[in-house]
Amino acid sequence: MNSTLLILAALISSVSSPDGRLKVNLDFQHNAYSVIYDGKTMLEDSPLGLVANFADFTENLVLTDSETSPIDEHYSLDRCKVSEVHYVANRYVGKLKNGKGQAFEVEFRVSNNDIAFRYNIPRDGGTGSIRVMNEATGFRFPEGTTTFLTPQSDAMIGWKRSKPSYEEEYRVDAQMSDRSFYGHGYTFPCLFRVGEDGWVLLSETGVGSNYCGCHLSDCNDGTYKIEFPMPEENNGNGTIEPAFSLPGSTPWRTITVGKTLKPIVETTAAWDNVSPLYGTSHKYKFGRSSWSWIIWQDASMNWNDQVAFIDLAADMNFEYILIDAGWDKELGYEKMEELVKYAQGKGVDVFLWYSSSGYWNDIVQSPVNKMDNSIARKKEMAWMESIGVKGIKVDFWGGDKQETMRLYEQVFSDADDHGLMVIVHGCTLPRGWERMYPNFVGAEAVLASENLVFGQRACDLEAFSACLHPFIRNTVASMEFGGCILNDRLSRGNKRGTTRRTTLDFELATEIIFQNPIQNIAITPENLESSPKEALEFLRNVPTTWDETVFIDGYPGKSVTLKRRHGSTWYEAHLDAATGDGYVKIY
Ligand code: CA
Repeated sequence: MNSTLLILAALISSVSSPDGRLKVNLDFQHNAYSVIYDGKTMLEDSPLGLVANFADFTENLVLTDSETSPIDEHYSLDRCKVSEVHYVANRYVGKLKNGKGQAFEVEFRVSNNDIAFRYNIPRDGGTGSIRVMNEATGFRFPEGTTTFLTPQSDAMIGWKRSKPSYEEEYRVDAQMSDRSFYGHGYTFPCLFRVGEDGWVLLSETGVGSNYCGCHLSDCNDGTYKIEFPMPEENNGNGTIEPAFSLPGSTPWRTITVGKTLKPIVETTAAWDNVSPLYGTSHKYKFGRSSWSWIIWQDASMNWNDQVAFIDLAADMNFEYILIDAGWDKELGYEKMEELVKYAQGKGVDVFLWYSSSGYWNDIVQSPVNKMDNSIARKKEMAWMESIGVKGIKVDFWGGDKQETMRLYEQVFSDADDHGLMVIVHGCTLPRGWERMYPNFVGAEAVLASENLVFGQRACDLEAFSACLHPFIRNTVASMEFGGCILNDRLSRGNKRGTTRRTTLDFELATEIIFQNPIQNIAITPENLESSPKEALEFLRNVPTTWDETVFIDGYPGKSVTLKRRHGSTWYEAHLDAATGDGYVKIY
């Protein structure tokens, strides 16, 4: 072997899945990786590396050593689409040095349909912390790949300057050359169809206080790059460059690959490589909830209406009522203590709404300024614990900066101290949180049910949108949609407001298709009279967590059929975008 070949041998490595069908080729001479499935190229040579404040790890990297090892782990999930996971993968770590001799590692884990990769930065000498200035990380798709993406929005737009909040429309079967709607690229998860060769889903996981949430750039020459948040997010507060102490790692980027959509719908990539960040002494109970705000809106924040929705929850065998925005002003803290007692007397527990803000938006919905600092937060949570509140819904977050990710983690951790579950709205995509935080029970991060009330367009698109989520948004994280609308018209009295375009069976099927451990259901007391007995009976018994999920058929934006198992009962559900109809079969 001549010396050139020797160097090439040291620079080119590969790692394959246990079944050998999925393969990552690593070319450190060009700082690139590629992904092959069943012999077909799913990602072409795609860039790796990052620029730190003290080192450039994007060029002149030399492989000094590598390690490979098998992973074979069993773990349990209690609030997702599957309860027992057997994660089998091959791990590869490439140990590199840059031109200045600074150390850097690239780590890949490859299971049969999922790739997870990250960078490990050792502590090298006296430098104990890193600030990541930018990443070279990218994903280069073969020509002809089509896209199923939702754009990152401008910062500080939308309701009371509260975006970005992952509440944008999707474009499907689009071209890579299409520009994103706002010009800021796309939010995770991102779905791609590589012609007839298969499907690729990109996302990231393991992001807590340790990093910012990232998104994908617009496509340039076939390549989508990892982008950091925009400086304007969070009203300009907080840096966009994430930092962590050394030794340390970037979050996992995940690439789910399949010939069909089955591995995409069934993926556990979000949870395979994260672990619980704290234990809990509480036993959290998942389930369903009534909430008055979705159909009866702000005017329902009064004693009688809340009592009516508590009675509704009791009648429906629901575990919870969610008391939404404005309760502190319209009912007050003393009345709330009475209301919680009333609910408990009916066997119903309470979630309370809070704004996360704060100093970064103009939110008027209250309570405000209770969740953004530890002094007010601890006092509020101690009060909730003392009256037996079981959870909070925290709305209107500030974007994807590390500063905001830290706030999420602080709220989760403090809430657990007081036995409170947390749902987030107006928020980022959860990135492994169902396994990382024992009291995290759902996130919006989708154009959710409220939009059906706000405008007819969302109703007209409801069936289409619902046929996207099982292939994209809901694959990597729970999705708190707050739907299953039994009204024909979306207002109190069922006579005016926007008009539902879907069938009742379609709405019921969304309770199976959309997965979240706490399902806030858009039922009203009036529906007890107006809805068929079988529909009410279904909702009285429908589970919210699953032991197994199996994809049967479908195409993003057109239709979906899947089945989920709870205990020994299977729920097969189908949605069709063209007809707005669907079904649930129970066996
Ligand atoms: Ca929202």
